[in-house]
Amino acid sequence: MSIVSLSEVQEMVQNTAREFTNNEIKPVASINDKEHSFPEDIIRKLGELGFMGMAVPEQYGGSGLDYLSYMLALEEICRGCASTGTIMSVNNSLICAPINTFGTEVQKKSFLTELASGKKLGCFMLSEPEAGSDAASMRTTAVLNGDHYLFNGTKSWITNGAEADFAIVFASTDKSLKHKGVSAFIVNMKTPGVKIGKLEDKLGIRATSTAQIFFEDCKVPSENLLGNEGDGFKIALNTLDGGRIGIAAQAVGIAQAALEDSVIYAKERKAFGNPISDFQGLQFMIADMATRIEASRLLVWQASVMKDKGMKYGKQSAMAKLFAAETAMWVTTKAIQIHGGYGYTTDYPVERYFRDAKITEIYEGTSEVQRIVIARETLKEIQ
Ligand SMILES: Cc1cc2nc3c(=O)[nH]c(=O)nc-3n(C[C@H](O)[C@H](O)[C@H](O)COP(=O)(O)OP(=O)(O)OC[C@H]3O[C@@H](n4cnc5c(N)ncnc54)[C@H](O)[C@@H]3O)c2cc1C
Repeated sequence: MSIVSLSEVQEMVQNTAREFTNNEIKPVASINDKEHSFPEDIIRKLGELGFMGMAVPEQYGGSGLDYLSYMLALEEICRGCASTGTIMSVNNSLICAPINTFGTEVQKKSFLTELASGKKLGCFMLSEPEAGSDAASMRTTAVLNGDHYLFNGTKSWITNGAEADFAIVFASTDKSLKHKGVSAFIVNMKTPGVKIGKLEDKLGIRATSTAQIFFEDCKVPSENLLGNEGDGFKIALNTLDGGRIGIAAQAVGIAQAALEDSVIYAKERKAFGNPISDFQGLQFMIADMATRIEASRLLVWQASVMKDKGMKYGKQSAMAKLFAAETAMWVTTKAIQIHGGYGYTTDYPVERYFRDAKITEIYEGTSEVQRIVIARETLKEIQ
């Protein structure tokens, strides 16, 4: 592990998450992946542990911890099951965080308390069939009509979409203003006019639901507007800056699992009369895997500490996500190589790690989008 010292509380959170992962998550992760089954029981227990709203103040049902503690826990959970980590990270990063930052007292009492305590589950609806990286081109509209907004449109790729109770939904309240006309709303998923469409059949994180959601003349109370009209794009970017550190932590967790399994396997598997771990060619792979993981973890910790200190951290968050996601892909590819033919089968979890790693290069901003953010900031900084 790293020489960077953690506080007693941070170490306690990390150990609790590690123990929970080893005892409760690892034994069922492969089955849930194969059966595409949402880990309901585990998510309920994560709520009881205080892991569904880790950085939310205790007065709103959260655990009142710092962001680094949340990242330490998320890495450990993702070491056992990336799907479980995705569900946890959406709830923490993408719905609890924006309501905590931008919500009114009434909104916090009505929605945040239940989400952060794990009694309710949330989702985040930004993407649309024609608007992913270019989120500002969204077509969903919210038209003010007396005491409510009338929603129409389609959202796609919504993680937790099939199970969520509440959603943050981004919609255009003034198309002529483009991204400045985007607003954010808290929507109860039971509202008439919200319809859950098809669930995607995915390469990885198969124990999560990824749903298309339709809004058909859906009436959302005007008091559910988050911030002011036109604040939506700012809220989305702010939310994703924090969320991306979480995806980086997820990538580190997946890569760490692949490294641990590879080392154990390499010590047991024999070829030419020796454990394959005796071969220098293989040792060099292990060395590079360990080094890239450590560098990724340090980027996660750096971005988290900067966020905790109230510093500007968007570039560091993008760097952590970019580097950790590419590391996870690289490390899981090597892990399959170390396992030889067995690594290519479902008998060992490395193929799952490999499939799960890929999503970290795509959601909450693709690797290309992270490069755009990093380049923009770097070009500004160096004159
Ligand atoms: C499993 C899964 C879960 C998801 N969960 C959610 C969720 O909960 N909520 C939500 O709102 N969204 C979610 N998403 C959507 C995700 O954030 C988008 O898929 C992602 O932002 C990319 O958008 P896109 O798929 O439309 O790709 P596009 O934007 O069409 O991009 C296609 C390719 O073009 C590249 N590209 C685009 N623009 C540029 C550019 N300017 N320069 C260089 N390259 C560029 C991209 O990097 C990519 O390689 C999820 C997606 C998946 C697959």
